Amino acid sequence: MRLLLVEDDQLIGTMVRLNLSQEGYEITWHKNGEDALVALKASRYDLILLDIGLPGRSGIETARAARNYGVGTPILMLTARDDVQSKVNALDAGADDYLTKPFDMAELLARVRAQIRRSQGTLEVPTDREVTLGEARVDLERRALQTAHGEWHELSDKEAALVRFLARNPGRALSRADILEEVWGMDASPTERTVDNFIVRLRRWVEPDPEQPRHILTVRGWGYRYEP
Ligand code: CA
Repeated sequence: MRLLLVEDDQLIGTMVRLNLSQEGYEITWHKNGEDALVALKASRYDLILLDIGLPGRSGIETARAARNYGVGTPILMLTARDDVQSKVNALDAGADDYLTKPFDMAELLARVRAQIRRSQGTLEVPTDREVTLGEARVDLERRALQTAHGEWHELSDKEAALVRFLARNPGRALSRADILEEVWGMDASPTERTVDNFIVRLRRWVEPDPEQPRHILTVRGWGYRYEP
């Protein structure tokens, strides 16, 4: 098991590395987000332990950048602040779990094991099977969507087709007619309102705030545009 540790604090980093190595994990340790992103693009890890308070790019920004790049590796965020907003920010940025400092090594190890257990089976998914849509990860073969908060939702055939169509056309204004043709094809006779209803549902899963969409944008009088 290969773990990427991103922590600028020498003492905490040393402790975490020591304890995890003793458990048999192979640790790569970087002290800032830039180096961590380079490592993530170059190599595959089973888990990322990411400190929020980093010099330069914060842990939140690093997590978001990693997810935008398509990194699906579970992220366990380490935060020095025990307030709700910090936790919400961490989860919204794509973290799977968080741990507040100072933490107990036994708890860290338990959470590392839990994250790795949960992600096993989805990590080896080839890229054409797994797509990222906004904050969500979608396994198209299993027709399952995982939100940024780790909840899974099963997708209908039509929902999966809509996810695939949006994810494969980033930045393009897609008309409702385009979407109807691609997703529903010759099936029955759905109305353009059907498209809107599907989009409303998807937004609840892929947007940090469905009322203020950042990923599935409305193109007035036309349709929708997906922005990763
Ligand atoms: Ca720090």
